[in-house]
Amino acid sequence: MENSFDVAIIGGGIIGSSIAFQLAKRGRKVVILEKDRVACQASSAAAGMLAAQAELEEDGHLFQLALKSQAMFASLSTELVEYSGIDIELVNKGMTKIAETEEIALDIKKQVIFQRKWDPMITWLDAKEIRVLEPSLSQSVAGGMYLPNDGHVQPAKLTQAFAKAAEYFGAVIREQTEVLSFIFENGQVKGVNTTNGVIHSEQVVVASGAWSAKLLRESGLDIHVYPVKGECFSVRAEKQLINTTIFSDKRCYLVPKRNGEIYIGATMIEHSLDNKVTPEGIATLIERATQLVPQIKEAAWERVWSGIRPQTADGTPYIGEHPNWKGLFVAAGHFRNGILLSPITGVVVADLLTGKILDQNELSAFRLDRHKETVS
Ligand SMILES: Cc1cc2nc3c(=O)[nH]c(=O)nc-3n(C[C@H](O)[C@H](O)[C@H](O)COP(=O)(O)OP(=O)(O)OC[C@H]3O[C@@H](n4cnc5c(N)ncnc54)[C@H](O)[C@@H]3O)c2cc1C
Repeated sequence: MENSFDVAIIGGGIIGSSIAFQLAKRGRKVVILEKDRVACQASSAAAGMLAAQAELEEDGHLFQLALKSQAMFASLSTELVEYSGIDIELVNKGMTKIAETEEIALDIKKQVIFQRKWDPMITWLDAKEIRVLEPSLSQSVAGGMYLPNDGHVQPAKLTQAFAKAAEYFGAVIREQTEVLSFIFENGQVKGVNTTNGVIHSEQVVVASGAWSAKLLRESGLDIHVYPVKGECFSVRAEKQLINTTIFSDKRCYLVPKRNGEIYIGATMIEHSLDNKVTPEGIATLIERATQLVPQIKEAAWERVWSGIRPQTADGTPYIGEHPNWKGLFVAAGHFRNGILLSPITGVVVADLLTGKILDQNELSAFRLDRHKETVS
């Protein structure tokens, strides 16, 4: 079995798969090492919203990165069908960010002014106008911000599509292969030890989601990635209940998927690495969702699931090279926005690994040593 590659990527989630696709397309010999299966963790649990402007409310490097990434989806979806045969189910029917009280309405109206700088089509809809767009909304809704250009995808399919497109360009995928440790020599990474033997490579990318911090500790770097579990459920209604994604606060959204399912998420349970779905979590979501769209109560039950988001102490992902070991890179900690950020993360990491000169000011927000804490 081949065991020498240009780049070894640890993790077959959406981030590792997107990076593999970009690097393989540039002619690099890439292997994805995945302890379980491609798209088995957070990347298949996500709702798939590309919600740059609903999730991020302040300008900054992360916000700008998210906007760039969001803009890549239309052409990416065509490109991925070509190389993988997989349709990522991109839906561009917009999002409505709901104000349930007059106080929240004031806050969202300020966001409309801010967000219109980047998309002049974003508007405020009052209580009457919002019900023209979304007749099933509860009578208590005070209004909302309409983001006509906000879409969503099927996240597991996007991850599979990245991985298959990477294979098309020659990448190798090793599932059921857990990386146990790094191999270092004279300040340079030389490969990794796995449950299926040694892999030699002068470049290694840690894209292991919520498990990244644990793996990196032996390299002397303490990145602040921690798990936040999210539970979801889905229903199917007889008639189309909602037209756009309904986004309330960060604890409840309803996403009408192309196959007719409505995804409803998601709880936020910090420091939980277990995947169990609890009646308490789902009951909270049902309560929140029916406050927004009462007819959800009558829809047909479909399924429940959960996933572990990789959060960071400052809410910004880590993207960059290790401060002490040449060739060791990290792309982890994309929290609630890993699906949205996957295209641009793939390009930025591929640029870094292939020596492209990048704007250091833009990248500084994502540096690995920004907390300046290392462990011995
Ligand atoms: C309920 C929920 C809803 C979400 N909704 C959205 C949304 O609407 N929009 C959005 O943009 N984002 C959303 N997210 C966030 C998004 O899912 C994540 O940010 C993204 O999937 C992270 O991708 P990843 O590749 O870093 O991690 P993961 O998908 O978790 O992949 C990491 C992979 O690394 C593997 N691994 C770990 N350690 C090792 C090792 N030692 N060796 C080999 N393999 C290893 C794991 O098995 C795993 O497959 C949501 C997340 C959840 C949980």
